[in-house]
Amino acid sequence: MHPSPSDSPFLGPARPVDVTVVGSTNVDVTATVPRLPGRGETLLGTSLLSSPGGKGANQALAASRGGASVRFVGAVGNDDAAPTALSHLQADGVDLSAVLTREGVPTGTALIWVEDSAENSIVVVPGANGSITAQDVDRVAERGGLEGVVLLQGEIPAEAVTRVAERAPGRVVVNLAPVIEVPPRVLTAADPLIVNEHEGAEALRILGGDPKGASEEEVVVALLAAGVPSVVMTLGARGALVADDSGVRATPAARVRAVDTTGAGDAFVGAAAARLAEGADLGAAASYAARFAAGAVLRAGTQSSYPLRGAELPELIA
Ligand code: ADP
Repeated sequence: MHPSPSDSPFLGPARPVDVTVVGSTNVDVTATVPRLPGRGETLLGTSLLSSPGGKGANQALAASRGGASVRFVGAVGNDDAAPTALSHLQADGVDLSAVLTREGVPTGTALIWVEDSAENSIVVVPGANGSITAQDVDRVAERGGLEGVVLLQGEIPAEAVTRVAERAPGRVVVNLAPVIEVPPRVLTAADPLIVNEHEGAEALRILGGDPKGASEEEVVVALLAAGVPSVVMTLGARGALVADDSGVRATPAARVRAVDTTGAGDAFVGAAAARLAEGADLGAAASYAARFAAGAVLRAGTQSSYPLRGAELPELIA
């Protein structure tokens, strides 16, 4: 069945928000297996866990835990997975009034097999995430729903991402993860564009540049030269490069004993958006984001690893 065009429940803001995330929400279903199954093989798993995920929802939770009032705009199926997908956002008080419920489409699901060695295989079924259209975005925009700092990723259709970038009245932050083919104007609206090394090179290619053989810093400089207002390139345990019209500088990571870095990138992006919405400059926002992300790598899991609001965070390496 096709979703009807009139199913947007959003009637306008119930309260003002600092950060609006338009993006994906999934349920991650993780089975622990002795080894990854081969073709045609049936294996017995040893444990099963369903947990909320999706880059949009992860970043919305991180922004909320980082102290922002947050709206999440996304889509779920009319199924048992939907409440699980949204459970942490709901518990954290994120505004879910603009979340669409689609009939006949499943909630986005990631099926994950993890070996004892930590090697894994993943199948992602986008489901309802893939159903978000430019018209859905228009309806939310017309009712004033794209409020505050608006945060985007690459797990919903490019047409929806593009329309948000065009219609957001305020600051737009784009995390080009995973890389999707967006028009260059999405990237030149991004203040900042947040990418890792690989995504930065791909963003430069979309903007007509040639990242081949370029260093990380050269890619960042070329992104600015191609018209991106500001860039943050995250470099894992090496920290991040922060760049705007005042130049490129390095932000260190915190030195922590990493237990699980899943979701660290999303923790960084959401926390950075929360600080930007408060009026912090890009450097201060990136430093806070690095501390928040370091807090998230100390514990296993994705959303369940994110530090609670007001929790003490690891310090950055001086
Ligand atoms: P992605 O998963 O998107 O490639 P990164 O691995 O670059 O993201 O991680 C994002 C941020 O999380 C980093 O810039 C850093 O601040 C923090 N981070 C990630 N891994 C570690 C780690 N092992 N120790 C400390 N901080 C980390």
